[in-house]
Amino acid sequence: MKVYFDNASTTPLLPEVISKMTQVMNEDFGNPSSIHSYGRKSRSIIENARKIVAKSLNASIGEVFFTSSATEANNMILKNAVFNLNVKRMISSPTEHHCVLHSLDYLQKNTNVEVVYLKVDNYGNPDLEELSFILSNSNKKTLVSLMHGNNEIGTMSDITKIGEICRANNALFHSDTVQTIGKYPINVQLSAISFLSGSAHKFHGPKGVGFVYINNNNIINPYIHGGAQERNMRAGTENVPGIAGLAVALEYADLNMTKNQEKIHSVRSLFKKLLISEFKDIQFNGNQDHSNLNHILSVSFPPGPKADVMVINLDIEGIAASSGSACSAGIEEDSHVMQAINHPQERKTIRFSFSPFNTEEEVFYTIEKLKKII
Ligand code: PLP
Repeated sequence: MKVYFDNASTTPLLPEVISKMTQVMNEDFGNPSSIHSYGRKSRSIIENARKIVAKSLNASIGEVFFTSSATEANNMILKNAVFNLNVKRMISSPTEHHCVLHSLDYLQKNTNVEVVYLKVDNYGNPDLEELSFILSNSNKKTLVSLMHGNNEIGTMSDITKIGEICRANNALFHSDTVQTIGKYPINVQLSAISFLSGSAHKFHGPKGVGFVYINNNNIINPYIHGGAQERNMRAGTENVPGIAGLAVALEYADLNMTKNQEKIHSVRSLFKKLLISEFKDIQFNGNQDHSNLNHILSVSFPPGPKADVMVINLDIEGIAASSGSACSAGIEEDSHVMQAINHPQERKTIRFSFSPFNTEEEVFYTIEKLKKII
């Protein structure tokens, strides 16, 4: 049996996405910048996709730009907020994705911007009182970058509350919403979001295509220079089949959000219940109430074989999951997220992440194989 429990890493493509992309690749190969009918057809595919993304976020069409990935979108926002919007201070958290953390490192080394990391508790929740305190004590132009859902432990932050704090203190608010787009409702007006990023391959769309939302009041300059694509904001001939696939996947995710969440919830709950009943001393990382991503279950196993070895053993049994650690020079080290939440280094973390396509049968199979491995 093959079991794919690594959906926070990437997701299988929906058949509807594959068929739309195949059709676009076969028939609609025109360059969207060309003025002839082939070009106009490709252009209309992109503009239709933009409408779908804008509707999903309650944004204006002109505030959505397609990119090659969420990594590109996050780099573009963070760097150009400093270069173009006179941002003097960034406030973030140590549990952000590397594309945010490494961009902040770059800015700290190469510009005068001040970078502040909020304290996080042992569940990965950033300290919002500290955020309010810092913002209300200085009127330095600030951008707050806090993700909506953590990709390793699933802890979700209250983006509406963060948006309110930012609005009250005139700070810009960027949220990496990669793990929540298409899974939870996101309304940029309600949550006072200035910038956000999304990536199609996390919601059953293709890899290599994402988008950035840039609020009309905070327009940054282009990050990639070249042609006039994406209304001069992002040069490079557009990935038309990818953008078409992204739109089909997002529309499907939004339409089926409640049904998909129920399916994922039942698989995750069963898995969690069986882990607790079948294994001694199991713990879970991240929030375990409603403020945890339904699709992520980060399991902390008692000290034992290396987490990477456990992942390989699961793989041998046909089960895909990921570990919360990395091996550097032969020494196993907890990831930056695990370290930030003070996860005991000797315990082993495996992240299981689900999609609506997973079944209870897969859960029973995985529990049996885990018993054998552990
Ligand atoms: N942000 C988060 C929270 C992610 O999980 C990922 C993907 O792993 C990214 C950003 C990067 O997305 P992309 O693969 O589109 O570059």
